[in-house]
Amino acid sequence: MTITLEGGSAPRLRAPGRLFIGGVWRPAAGGRAFATLDPATGAELGTVAAAGPADVDEAVAAAATALHDPAWARMSPSARGRVLWRLADLIEEHADELARLEHHDQGQPLEVAREISVRGTAEHFRYFAGWTTKIEGATIPVSLPDVLHYTRREPVGVCALITPWNFPLMILSWKLAPALACGNTVVIKPAEQTPLTALRLMELCEDAGLPAGVVNLLTGGPETGAALAAHPGVDKVSFTGSTETGRAVLRASAGNLARVTLELGGKTPVIVAADADLERAVAGCVQGAMFNSGQVCAAYSRFYVDARRAAEFTERAADLAGRLAPGPLISAEHLARVDGFVREGVADGAALLTGGTRVDGPGYFYAPTVFAGVGDEMSIARQEIFGPVMSVLTYDDPAEIAGRANDSPYGLAASIWTGDLTTAHRLAADLRAGTVFVNMLHTPDPAAPWGGFKSSGFGREMGAYALDVYTEVKGVFVNLAC
Ligand code: ADP
Repeated sequence: MTITLEGGSAPRLRAPGRLFIGGVWRPAAGGRAFATLDPATGAELGTVAAAGPADVDEAVAAAATALHDPAWARMSPSARGRVLWRLADLIEEHADELARLEHHDQGQPLEVAREISVRGTAEHFRYFAGWTTKIEGATIPVSLPDVLHYTRREPVGVCALITPWNFPLMILSWKLAPALACGNTVVIKPAEQTPLTALRLMELCEDAGLPAGVVNLLTGGPETGAALAAHPGVDKVSFTGSTETGRAVLRASAGNLARVTLELGGKTPVIVAADADLERAVAGCVQGAMFNSGQVCAAYSRFYVDARRAAEFTERAADLAGRLAPGPLISAEHLARVDGFVREGVADGAALLTGGTRVDGPGYFYAPTVFAGVGDEMSIARQEIFGPVMSVLTYDDPAEIAGRANDSPYGLAASIWTGDLTTAHRLAADLRAGTVFVNMLHTPDPAAPWGGFKSSGFGREMGAYALDVYTEVKGVFVNLAC
């Protein structure tokens, strides 16, 4: 079977219905498969293999073998860096094809797929290609006489990379690039809704010269992810997804004692101070909320606007949001979930200024939605909606605002819009979030750490911080007196 996409030359996946294990493309042992859909039309794009427990065993075994294969274990750091750099080049050479796969499988606009997802993925591999030769230990002045002590940073081992459906290729690169830079081997489990770009990336990994078994891919649903996370041969799990599933991954790690990094949900608070440049703030806030139809972990979501500017802010935001073209949500179930939150907002008495309806026709489109008059306790101010919905609250006293913004189980990101440096830096320190964006969109960068406080997870991806979670530290004592 082939994956068929409209427009341009159809991307050719070498083996779309297969798993990639130990350098071999093969069907799932149980012969099961499932369909992946285009959320903009509801049409089936193709079927992919559903990996079962035997496939999980094999993939983990292949990764464990490759970990000690001299072709990988003894590859010099500089050669490893060249492979990652070549992979980045290949991603750029195939940018159009990858972008179209992502656009159809995930529903993100083609320009977002090309400019953010694919470009961001290539940049990630390039950034981590540079790190391979800089993963250093330390010499430590121990107080034992005539003893030299030094540390080594070694690979953790077999890493399970479990990814979500909102930015399938880019979020995979956030995990895969540092895992490989540090010399690990991996088993990837992409989200069942969006497996296609991960499949194509495996082909590019082969072409880049990664030895067989270093990267393995299991397509499948939650059971495949659960079996992988709990597998005794897995040394580390890096998971991005819902907080609930993150808890399940953490529980599974009680069995195999895998090191776990979790990047979970969020409910990003955005503070708009009285002195903010309102035109810029509105443009940034609406884009931050509606980007990829709000299906972004750091999506701007609850807006605390100085009461003196609130009417102007909401009017402009509703006007701008009402003029945006609606985008598709990932599935019919997710559309119903987002609509459920909107109905709760209406029932709780928030003022619906624009949107609040699904868009007729094929696919799972939802109109950009803005609520004003939102109360702190309403579910639209507290729950992660993961859809194109802005909830606008107001504040009178700037002294109260950090406390209200922090009154959430989540802490992935926060945003501040102000013309005053003191307000910006005071709030940046007071907000309990892994990343704070001042007067800008939620834009990650490979060099800057990314991750959550509180129920938004733990561990950091990106930057030098990612090296900590993909390496083990070994201390070596050497008796110099004998
Ligand atoms: P959603 O965002 O749709 O709620 P999840 O957070 O459950 O999705 O899914 C994110 C990823 O985790 C997907 O690849 C999914 O298949 C996988 N997954 C789901 N359940 C589990 C589980 N219990 N253990 C490990 N992975 C899981």
